[in-house]
Amino acid sequence: MSEACKHCGAGARQTSAQVVDGQELHVLEGRRAAATCYNDMLVDEKLAATLAQSGATGMSFRGVFAAFEKRGHFQLPWRQLCATHTLPRMSPRSTGVEPYKPCTCGRSSFSWEDKVPLRLVYRASDVADIRDVNVTWEWFGEVKFNGDVSEALFPYPLFLVTPKVWRIYRDAGATGFDWIPIRIEND
Ligand SMILES: [Zn+2]
Repeated sequence: MSEACKHCGAGARQTSAQVVDGQELHVLEGRRAAATCYNDMLVDEKLAATLAQSGATGMSFRGVFAAFEKRGHFQLPWRQLCATHTLPRMSPRSTGVEPYKPCTCGRSSFSWEDKVPLRLVYRASDVADIRDVNVTWEWFGEVKFNGDVSEALFPYPLFLVTPKVWRIYRDAGATGFDWIPIRIEND
C-alpha cells in the first residue's frame, strides 16, 4: 500500500500469487485466457509460454492457485499476466469515462458512462515509449475501503496492449474479451 491512495487503494501493489476460489474453477474450463471480476488477467500455461517467447515487453507472470475451504491451496496450470508499466493519464479528450464517486486522488472509481460513446484518447508523446502490455493510470470499478486491506474492495486498472499481444490472444483462440481501440491525438 506504500504507493497507494489511502482513501480508495488505487495504486496498491499485489504482493502474492493469484488465488482464485476453488468453487469457481469451471469458469476456466475450455478457455485459454480469462479475467477475474477484478480484472486480473489469467492465461493458461501454454499461452503464458507463447507470450514469454514472443519478445513482447512489459509483462511479468505470477502463479495461480485455487483455494478450497477444507483442502487448502493447489497450484493451477495457469499464470497471471501482470503489467510492469503504468501509462500516463488519458487525454481529457477521452469520453464516456467518468468517476462515479470521485476520490481526492482523482485516480479511482472510473466507470463507463452509457449515454456517451466510449473513446479512450492518449497524447502521442505519452504512448511513444509504451510496452506491449501496460495498465492505465486510471482505476475502474467499485471502491470499498476503510483502511483494512483484508476487507477491501479495490478498484483496478484496465490493460492496454499492442496489436502484437492482441494477435497472440486471437491466434490462441482466446475469447470473452472486449478489445477497444484507443485513439491517439497529436500533441
Ligand atoms: Zn483515491
